[in-house]
Amino acid sequence: MSRAVAEVDLTAIAHNLKLIKGKTNTQVLAVVKADAYGHGLIPVAKAAVAAGADWLGTALLEEGVALRAAGVKAPLICWLTPLGEDLKIAVKNNIDLSISSIELLEEVIDAGRAANIVPRIHLEVDTGMTRGGVRGEWPEFVSEVAKAVKDNGVEVVGLWSHFARADEPDQSFNKQQLDTFHKRLATLIAQGINPQFVHIANSAAALTNNDAVKNIVRWGIGLYGLSPDVTTLGDSAKLNLKPAMKLKAKLHLVKKAEAGAPVGYGGTATVAEDTKIGVVTMGYADGIPRNASNLAGVFVDGHRAPLLGRVSMDQFVVNLGANSNAKTGDEVVIFGDGALGEYTVDDWASAAGTINYEIVTRIGPRVPRIYPRG
Ligand SMILES: *Cc1c(COP(=O)(O)O)cnc(C)c1O
Repeated sequence: MSRAVAEVDLTAIAHNLKLIKGKTNTQVLAVVKADAYGHGLIPVAKAAVAAGADWLGTALLEEGVALRAAGVKAPLICWLTPLGEDLKIAVKNNIDLSISSIELLEEVIDAGRAANIVPRIHLEVDTGMTRGGVRGEWPEFVSEVAKAVKDNGVEVVGLWSHFARADEPDQSFNKQQLDTFHKRLATLIAQGINPQFVHIANSAAALTNNDAVKNIVRWGIGLYGLSPDVTTLGDSAKLNLKPAMKLKAKLHLVKKAEAGAPVGYGGTATVAEDTKIGVVTMGYADGIPRNASNLAGVFVDGHRAPLLGRVSMDQFVVNLGANSNAKTGDEVVIFGDGALGEYTVDDWASAAGTINYEIVTRIGPRVPRIYPRG
């Protein structure tokens, strides 16, 4: 094994896809943005489609184009195209676009004319998240869309929105968002536009809220076997999800350190009693959070070895314990599915005061992704 590696289990991806397909009994859009949450865009997308994903979705257009270049033919939406992108490439590659402004609508119409293809679009409505999507200007927006449809300038395939608080037990804000969503759909239909696809659910809503399922669910974090919110929904095991990524590194060095020794930059941790420490070959340049506490660490020699002190750019230190048999050169697991007692992505997230999404998506480009056969 090399210095560091992220092993991605594509059978886990398939399991997690089938789980939500069975549970919601609707079309599933596998969210593969941000290099498939750090798991590798093309292999994950292909595995998801093979397991029954009906759609793929990315934020960036270049990720959509990369999927098409890799021969992925599934229906595909790219939902974050700023003005000035080459939308002709999207249209020619049969990529659906999300439209949330009149300016972008005009660009997509022009791109379609230039390509001599009617662009397929999904209208994004802001139902309360106050981020993307059309808000107060909805009536003007819809009348522009209706004109474009009449001129054969666009085909409205979908209407969509996004929840702000789908992972919270209190459903009142979700209900308000759904209510607004239904109202916006009704006004669209009143203008003669009846989109085939209506979608609002992310992973948390797909797992918990039948009313939100509609005819596509957008399955992101769950595809990777991680819980949308460990506190409110429980962890991966509770949700019967299989974490797909196992992050491994090596012990560059094992040595003794005496009680009282300060560890790392700033000496923010001190060795409590005489012990052996291990120097691990990954750092914040690889996405290991610099401020993670000793609630995380590595698994080696059948034991957990907690993090000591600050993470450096390329390395960090763990406390192996005085009786450890770990040796220089040993392989360590930084996170895995937890079955053997190793730390999990969720452990790292809570040690760093963040969410599991951020831990996996920030694993850097220096770390090769490999796909052992299941
Ligand atoms: C990222 C994203 C999702 C997936 O969210 P999860 O919480 O990971 O399921 C769904 N829809 C949109 C628009 C997104 O940007």
